[in-house]
Amino acid sequence: MKKLTAIFLCAVLLLTSGCGGMTPATKHTRYQAEFLSLFDTVTTIVGYADSKEDFTELAGQIRDKLEEYHRLYSIYDDFAGVNNIKTINDNAGMAPVPVDSRIIDLLQYAKEQYAGTKGTLNIALGSVLKIWHDYREAGSDDPENAELPPMELLRQANEHTNIDDLVIDAAASTVYLKDPLMRLDVGAIAKGYATEQVAQHFENQGVTNLLLSVGGNVRALGGKFDEGADTVIPWAVGVRNPDLSSTESTLMSVLAEDCSIVSSGIYERYYTVDGVEYHHIIDPETLMPTTYYAQVTIVCKDSGLADALSTAAFVLPRDEALAYINAMDGVEACWVLEDGSQFYSDGFEALKK
Ligand code: AMP
Ligand code: MG
Repeated sequence: MKKLTAIFLCAVLLLTSGCGGMTPATKHTRYQAEFLSLFDTVTTIVGYADSKEDFTELAGQIRDKLEEYHRLYSIYDDFAGVNNIKTINDNAGMAPVPVDSRIIDLLQYAKEQYAGTKGTLNIALGSVLKIWHDYREAGSDDPENAELPPMELLRQANEHTNIDDLVIDAAASTVYLKDPLMRLDVGAIAKGYATEQVAQHFENQGVTNLLLSVGGNVRALGGKFDEGADTVIPWAVGVRNPDLSSTESTLMSVLAEDCSIVSSGIYERYYTVDGVEYHHIIDPETLMPTTYYAQVTIVCKDSGLADALSTAAFVLPRDEALAYINAMDGVEACWVLEDGSQFYSDGFEALKK
């Protein structure tokens, strides 16, 4: 993390208005800012402002808010004066940890998602996910000796993944892991949940016509201005092509106004063992990376829900995944298989540009 903080980057660019920086800023002048210090990924903010200074100020405020969540939800780093998810993990089996209400909210949300996905999405899988994480890191550093984790080790860790051992005391604002060997991993939901909370915070302050992308977890506040006009139209958000060998980096564009677009994919984190790629989304039944899809994209209003569902819909087989998403109002999804073929939820086609 220190490395990333050191290369903290804030670039504010004038994106349109004819001839770049030469044109005086108008109400609809579009700017973009990028930050490299949050959630181990790139955050991009696109919006409009009267001046570059105004936009830089707003982008800085959004960055600061996101950073608060980044610190609270980290499972890898300690931050002075902050009890975060890592603190909860470090105190497993020892003591309840007093935490910020934003941690209570995230963990309660995660428990709801566990129930909603029948355990497919389980933030208590941390001990299993840590083994995969360590083997992936070792295998990436030394590809010739890359190995799969022994199934016996995974099974032992899986004895410590009972979500009921996550004890949330909302009144006392504490969290306790009853099982000393249990660990939380909020990687499947924290980025989207934080993005949603920050988006709502700024929406409540009247901010609109802004596109926030935290590592591809995209949340649109309102729409964008039609070029050269006053009309507001939906943003066209590119969905990444999961086929990294393709010259086309974008698979399709999806129209977004006041909604989120979130993808989970095999390309995000993976390593190779004996010529086979193993990615980072683990089926709690098999304790192995899932093999159904190369990518799942969710479109719905709430970015937290989109993040949770992108991971859950990645783990469920086709019929179950389709039924699960089609039963939900206001949620659409696109699945891409490894051979490039696609299938959609009932209303997804209409969202494509
Ligand atoms: P995402 O990119 O949102 O699909 O999240 C992937 C991350 O979620 C992984 O890097 C793990 O940290 C975590 N994860 C993987 N499998 C699961 C699972 N079955 N339930 C909960 N979290 C998971
Ligand atoms: Mg997710």
